[in-house]
Amino acid sequence: LEEGEALHPKGWHMDKVADNYLRLLKIDSLLYSARTDYQEIMIFRNETLGKVLVIDDDIQLVEMDEWVYHEALVHPALFTHPRPSRIAIIGGGDGAALREALKHRCVREVYLVDIDRRVVEACRRYLPEIHGGSFYDSRVKILHMDGMRFLENPPGKFHGILIDLTEPARGPAKELYSKSFYELASKSLTNDGIIALQAGSATFHEAEGFSPFLGYTILASLFPKVRPYLVGIPSFGSLWCFLMASRRYDPLRVSRRTLAKRMEERIVKTRYYTPDLHKSLFVLPRFLLESFENRNK
Ligand code: SAM
Repeated sequence: LEEGEALHPKGWHMDKVADNYLRLLKIDSLLYSARTDYQEIMIFRNETLGKVLVIDDDIQLVEMDEWVYHEALVHPALFTHPRPSRIAIIGGGDGAALREALKHRCVREVYLVDIDRRVVEACRRYLPEIHGGSFYDSRVKILHMDGMRFLENPPGKFHGILIDLTEPARGPAKELYSKSFYELASKSLTNDGIIALQAGSATFHEAEGFSPFLGYTILASLFPKVRPYLVGIPSFGSLWCFLMASRRYDPLRVSRRTLAKRMEERIVKTRYYTPDLHKSLFVLPRFLLESFENRNK
């Protein structure tokens, strides 16, 4: 194709998974699209995948498998902690990480800090099956500000900080993929607090400037216990890496029995996460183990 020539047919969303790797998703019905002060938002329906949220051309979530991602971001960390009650979610304007965090009965207060009010407004209106009413829970405080500014002056310390941001390549999240951001996050955690983040694709990352390995190196300079983990997310076209870090707790040292007890006491219902699955999330394939080891020699 010549430069400038249309790459994809009208009525399709072109998803760039990586350089030289594109996929097309049919826009069966367009529900919302807007250019905000920060980014471009689009919500559409695809007959096979369900509702799709796209920001700056990047798929943020797909109804078919968003629960895999959001359960993986939230539950391993919150079940590793014996009694998480104050939580902060940085980003996460779709309300799905919020939905999962609120399932834990011991959670008394959740700050949702998303820079873009219009993402929250659009998701509140067009994605009720994703947020599941979480925005209306009385335990929730929604703030529209930069996550970095929020953690510079946080309203107290948190037992859990969950980072659910857009990709670092462009847009307002760029500055938050940095050591200075994680230093602030570390200071905003209680002594036994846990941080969890989505750290990007396990296979395609170099072009983004941030990778799970860089994230690991940053966290390992701030926390004694850092654990990478992995899930497959079909709609992201890749295996996906997450990182969890804490000064006190190691997710691999919590027994299956304790996890099952916590799950029962907190009355958490899931579709992906189980106490049996918990440890297996942290068992990495050889190519990743070697990458993490090589980066940290
Ligand atoms: N699961 C997603 C993915 O694909 O990586 C992330 C979803 S969530 C919609 C990402 C949110 O991060 C967006 O709503 C965006 O407004 C928010 N965000 C980006 N930069 C931010 C910043 N500096 N501070 C707070 N929120 C930010």
